[in-house]
Amino acid sequence: LRMVSATPIGNEPVSDEELRPHVLDGFIGQPRLKAQLQLFLDAARKREVPPDHILLAGPPGLGKTTLAMIVANELAVPIRVTSGPAIQHAGDLASILSSLDAGEVLFIDEIHRLPRAAEELLYIAMEDFRVDVMVGKGPGATSIPLTLPRFTVIGATTREGMLPSPLRARFGFTAHLDFYPKEELEKLIERSAAVLGINLAEGSAVQLAMRSRGTPRIANRLLRRVRDWAIVHNLSAVQPDDVCEALALYQIDTEGLDRLDIAVLNAIVCHFNGGPVGLNNLSAMVGEESETVETVCEPYLVREGFLIRTPKGRVATAKAWEHLGLKPQDDVSK
Ligand code: ADP
Repeated sequence: LRMVSATPIGNEPVSDEELRPHVLDGFIGQPRLKAQLQLFLDAARKREVPPDHILLAGPPGLGKTTLAMIVANELAVPIRVTSGPAIQHAGDLASILSSLDAGEVLFIDEIHRLPRAAEELLYIAMEDFRVDVMVGKGPGATSIPLTLPRFTVIGATTREGMLPSPLRARFGFTAHLDFYPKEELEKLIERSAAVLGINLAEGSAVQLAMRSRGTPRIANRLLRRVRDWAIVHNLSAVQPDDVCEALALYQIDTEGLDRLDIAVLNAIVCHFNGGPVGLNNLSAMVGEESETVETVCEPYLVREGFLIRTPKGRVATAKAWEHLGLKPQDDVSK
């Protein structure tokens, strides 16, 4: 693995690495996506050509980076990692592209945040395996077309809708990652516990899975907090009650909702009397970027039935009121 970006992708803690599966078989859950990807990789191996470009879409922490690394590993090719925000000028991307080896995987995280000029350069490179390199500066500058070896771009995005369609059209395979059901998270937690050497008693993984917000990254993070608890309390095995106590200390919601989720629900219920409220008003009220509210927070709240999106705006459901300990008929505006 070579890092080419000045800023490592998404300021990811190094600790994410030790829990990453390296082969498709070790990737837990998402069975349909895995089957599709397996076929895609098998075909590429049989044809002995680098596979088409792949787009991975879905909320943060669901395994996009992990899948990109698995693809490179399964194809036994190197992977280069960068991200949309790390590429400030088209030239940054041109220099990465022109140094790629044949068959190499180029992983671009947050690809929807590439500057426009870089986007254009990228889709030409993806389609024609060609890049125009600028030589010199000012009026004397010339562009030299450079032929690239075949390579595979894997783009990851939390906002597929923001990708311009010419770029989106260059991907031969788009995979949508969804939140993980509790049973899958349970398996993932058991796998991580084995890797980290944590002895979870029967029923403990379920308690962790319930609070993990459908997200592997959160599941692994909570597991580490539980490990701290077990170490400090000299536990040889972690019982379900230990999980509950440890996570209660960190104010982890039993439904897995985090601080922002709760702030959003609170705002809708308490300031807009349940809604409907527009995304911008809502985001301003909780002091977050509307992109974060829309891509990180809402998909989970909608999926779990706490929030619905209507043409007039976001509305809190009865389940949301109940979770906050309120009744929809309560007039909270007073
Ligand atoms: P993303 O790139 O979508 O933000 P990552 O690929 O970085 O998410 O995954 C976050 C963490 O969760 C990593 O430590 C990874 O090992 C783990 N993880 C994600 N998906 C899975 C999975 N399906 N099976 C096992 N571990 C996973």
